[in-house]
Amino acid sequence: MVIEHSPVTATSRGPRRARSTERLALVARAITVVLVLFSAGCFGVPSPLAPELRGSVGLPHQGVITDAAPLPRRGEGYRLLRKNGIHWGNPRLVAAIQRAAGDVSRARPGGPPLVIGDLSARFGGFSSGHRSHRTGRDADLLIFALTPDGRPVQSPGFLEFGPDGLARAKDKKVAYFRIDVEREWLLVKALVLSREANVQWLFIARWLEALVIEHARARGEDPELVWQAENILLQPGDSGAHDDHLHLRIACTPDEAVAGCEGGGPYWPWLPARPQFVSPPDGELARAIVGDLLPGAPGVKPPAGPSP
Ligand SMILES: [Zn+2]
Repeated sequence: MVIEHSPVTATSRGPRRARSTERLALVARAITVVLVLFSAGCFGVPSPLAPELRGSVGLPHQGVITDAAPLPRRGEGYRLLRKNGIHWGNPRLVAAIQRAAGDVSRARPGGPPLVIGDLSARFGGFSSGHRSHRTGRDADLLIFALTPDGRPVQSPGFLEFGPDGLARAKDKKVAYFRIDVEREWLLVKALVLSREANVQWLFIARWLEALVIEHARARGEDPELVWQAENILLQPGDSGAHDDHLHLRIACTPDEAVAGCEGGGPYWPWLPARPQFVSPPDGELARAIVGDLLPGAPGVKPPAGPSP
């Protein structure tokens, strides 16, 4: 479902008309949110009964998002492939893409922008052509391409790269494209190093991972970083091989997990630690319960605090 709302402004027909149009737009928006949430399936959704659920809620393939941020159509080092409204995400995802694309373009100036496919719809939920992309934690990043003689070119779309690193061109101007492993590694590196993004997976075909990792090793990159990248890069078992894009998925932060964000994968040891809920010893718990029920009962100390 593509939902776009045009801004409502006062017109020559007068402010009262503008106000009622604005009210109608707000009501329509509220109805849309409720419909999206109800169509999202059987799991906890934000509602007046569960006001604590917000942000990325649920699993990547069964969830919704509130408070999503839009990725602008173009920015430093990137541009969107399509104009279909599926460009909303968790603000951390949007920021991570912008920062990583900027890093690559500054490290290798003069190249084409990173071309970006879909993120999520305005309120998440199902979007056509994707199993996941429902909670604002997924984005499709097209593969950086070169002409066969090594000139960087903007990716024309989802090119399928084989184990030789070549993709057959869909138009007839160029017969083949080659993966730009140098820029692809710089992108992977920027995402892996982005601690705020909490990258959980970078889905990509096994043979493209091999080319990128081989390049990183040949460049003498930090073995710890290469090891982290090898863990995060993965050819998924339950969907396409991902030979035509790098699929970025971010993990939930500890705060987001408390607000309803659900895992859907590993939580890497190098990410910020999740909160540990430690229950108090039994005796202390029993005293607290008795204290709540029978204030002043024997053995129950009055709560510490300033005396009146
Ligand atoms: Zn994907």
